[in-house]
Amino acid sequence: MKYLLYSDGNGNIFEDTSLYVVGRSGWDAMPIPDEDWIELPDGGNLYELPGRRGIGIDVETGDMRLCDKGWAVAAFIPPAHTGFYLAAYETMEDAPTLPLFCYTAAGWENDKFYVPAVRIERDIRQECSGYDQDVINSGVEHLVQAYPHNRLVKHLADNCALTYHCPAARNYFIGRWECPVPTSPACNANCIGCISFQPEDETIVSTQDRLQFKPTAAEIVEFTVPHLETAPYPLISFGQGCEGEPLLMWETIRDAIVEIRKHTQKGSININTNGSKPAAVEALMKAGLNSIRVSMNSARAEIYTKYYLPNNYKFEDLIESLKVVRRYGGWSSINYFVFPGMTDSIAELDALCDLIRETDLNMIQWRNFNIDPDWYLGKMNIADTGECIGIKQMMEAVHEEFPHVKFGYFNPPAERMKNFDVDFAH
Ligand code: SF4
Repeated sequence: MKYLLYSDGNGNIFEDTSLYVVGRSGWDAMPIPDEDWIELPDGGNLYELPGRRGIGIDVETGDMRLCDKGWAVAAFIPPAHTGFYLAAYETMEDAPTLPLFCYTAAGWENDKFYVPAVRIERDIRQECSGYDQDVINSGVEHLVQAYPHNRLVKHLADNCALTYHCPAARNYFIGRWECPVPTSPACNANCIGCISFQPEDETIVSTQDRLQFKPTAAEIVEFTVPHLETAPYPLISFGQGCEGEPLLMWETIRDAIVEIRKHTQKGSININTNGSKPAAVEALMKAGLNSIRVSMNSARAEIYTKYYLPNNYKFEDLIESLKVVRRYGGWSSINYFVFPGMTDSIAELDALCDLIRETDLNMIQWRNFNIDPDWYLGKMNIADTGECIGIKQMMEAVHEEFPHVKFGYFNPPAERMKNFDVDFAH
């Protein structure tokens, strides 16, 4: 058993050796099986949770009780890892809503921090040890000079790489792997936890600001062709955290893809999207799109709709978008927001299996849901999350039923779409 962690409110974290830490699933606190723990991976962070008291198991009595020594602590686990349990705490009356990050349980043992999680992705493209700021700065200088009139390169430099420290933008300026291509200032959904736009009356802020202009196809082609031509495992991705919905810009994206493919056949072209416009997806497949990643908090239409609050599209549209891509021989993934207590419910497992069968899905990207758990369940009006089996068991059940469906965290380059187990030792 791992000891509970607490914060003294001054940025210092301590272990409480009178309490073993527990995890949270939905609204319930529960012990975490020993085999589910891994050391907090490099690049992970620990957060103090203001106005919240940690829940633990008393080492002496075995009873569950609150830690009154300080504030609760949670872990933000780095990309490529999926958390099995949320941090367990009791929220005080006037506690502030937590910002849009993930809050995984964290414990302490033998001078080390631990989290209940699994490394779900072998790709090392977002390892924090792989980023050298000097290399990024000289890449920014070089490429901004190379494209002096390109608003998109300037946005990726000033905002994404140097302000938001976006891993994808930093990789672009290092000249490797996946290059982000945001295009859309607008969106046709109103996600409760939107990371690029939060309504004025919300107390939390979006983690990025939304793009303020519509790039032209020429601006997109100018910097993406050289990237596809020169980067290792080259991939460009429309649909980023700093924009709205890219399918609202499908004509520009179509024209860009057609022009890109006149200059190079190298690499892969992907779109991260809410999948709301299957006809637009078909036009992009005809133009040369290679893969799609559709984001969802749930494979259940009612849970999806309550969170995405879609304008003029419905859950069935994103199912159709996934099917269109497979019909054209493309690679399809879902960007699956993992929330212990919701994602691992029996009802969700059934719905996910139906989705995989109906869409012939290639890959599930098991991504930690970056949202305040109380705020999410409260906004969704969910008091009882139903019977749950555990995130780890959920993954095992899906793998057993669909062994061909790949698990990961990132969009695969062309080499991995051909052979997912290719040894791409970057
Ligand atoms: S689909 Fe994306 S951009 Fe649109 S509201 Fe949801 S999170 Fe925000």
